[in-house]
Amino acid sequence: MRVYETIRAYLDRLIEKGELQEELFFLAEAHPLSQLTTFRTGGNATVLFPLAAVVIEKLLPILVRENIPYFVLGNGSNVIAKDEGYPGLILSLEKMKRFAVKGNEITAESGFSVTALALTAKKASLSGIEFFYGIPGSVGGAVFMNAGAYGGECKDVLKSVTYVTRKGEVVSAGVEDLEMGYRTSVFEKNGAIVVEATFSLAPGDVAKISAEMENLMAQRVAKQPLEYPSAGSVFKRYEGRFTAKMIQDAGLKGVRVGGAQVSEKHAGFIINYDHATSNDIFQLIDHVKKVIYEKEGIHIACEVRTIE
Ligand SMILES: Cc1cc2nc3c(=O)[nH]c(=O)nc-3n(C[C@H](O)[C@H](O)[C@H](O)COP(=O)(O)OP(=O)(O)OC[C@H]3O[C@@H](n4cnc5c(N)ncnc54)[C@H](O)[C@@H]3O)c2cc1C
Repeated sequence: MRVYETIRAYLDRLIEKGELQEELFFLAEAHPLSQLTTFRTGGNATVLFPLAAVVIEKLLPILVRENIPYFVLGNGSNVIAKDEGYPGLILSLEKMKRFAVKGNEITAESGFSVTALALTAKKASLSGIEFFYGIPGSVGGAVFMNAGAYGGECKDVLKSVTYVTRKGEVVSAGVEDLEMGYRTSVFEKNGAIVVEATFSLAPGDVAKISAEMENLMAQRVAKQPLEYPSAGSVFKRYEGRFTAKMIQDAGLKGVRVGGAQVSEKHAGFIINYDHATSNDIFQLIDHVKKVIYEKEGIHIACEVRTIE
């Protein structure tokens, strides 16, 4: 049976048993992953859009037990979807975006955008997440990746998260238990799904918060090729060295494979310059890695993750 029918049957059984309601999710067959990723490339897949964490709680243990591959998507801003699509189930959390401000804390569901989170903090005169402004990711993706910019990192402001384990258990954990490091967290290893996160902020002055956010956005606009689809910086830093500088020094700016190009504006970015396929992007990544290895003798690693 195809993935769509299989998942539909499991969801129907959960509904029959009274454990789920139809209103709590959307299930899409052959959904274009190009619409769910900021690179705007990739083939089709069966996609489940939960509207509440209970859908994940009930379904995840079934996927694990039945060996159905799954991939969790936040805003798709740090991933590449293959041209042939994905054979398992994509769980897109983009519709789970409730949030609440309580005192100096903001709690948000995983699909809430971190840029919207920064705007929410500003409105509540709370400071500490100005650096999130302009990162096109979701709360869940920012936790998973420990997203950061301009000296700030998710782990500096994260207080706790709620996640669903592969067994379907709902666990709350403090940031100290999440092994958050440079663009990594425990979720890279344990396959659990973050459903909610609480950020601890400090009271601040709205005018100052606003000025800082505008300043950081101006830097992004000046330095990043935001006019093209991309997934941001493709490669991780290498032992403190800026990969973008190495790529620039290797003369790779502007190099193209098909419709993919190493950005002229920021060498760390690969952009979808002109109807790129994911294969174009993969080939360009391999080319950049090869040239850097030949020049510098080091293997640079991708920050961007492949949906596979
Ligand atoms: C123009 C541009 C600028 C960028 N600037 C920055 C920057 O300044 N700093 C920075 O750190 N990044 C930056 N990025 C990269 C990206 O936005 C971040 O990594 C972001 O945190 C990814 O979030 P997402 O929701 O899009 O995650 P996705 O791309 O959807 O997923 C990334 C990974 O997280 C996993 N994941 C997502 N949600 C969950 C969840 N709820 N539970 C478990 N796993 C989950 C996915 O399975 C995947 O492995 C930029 C990207 C672009 C396109």
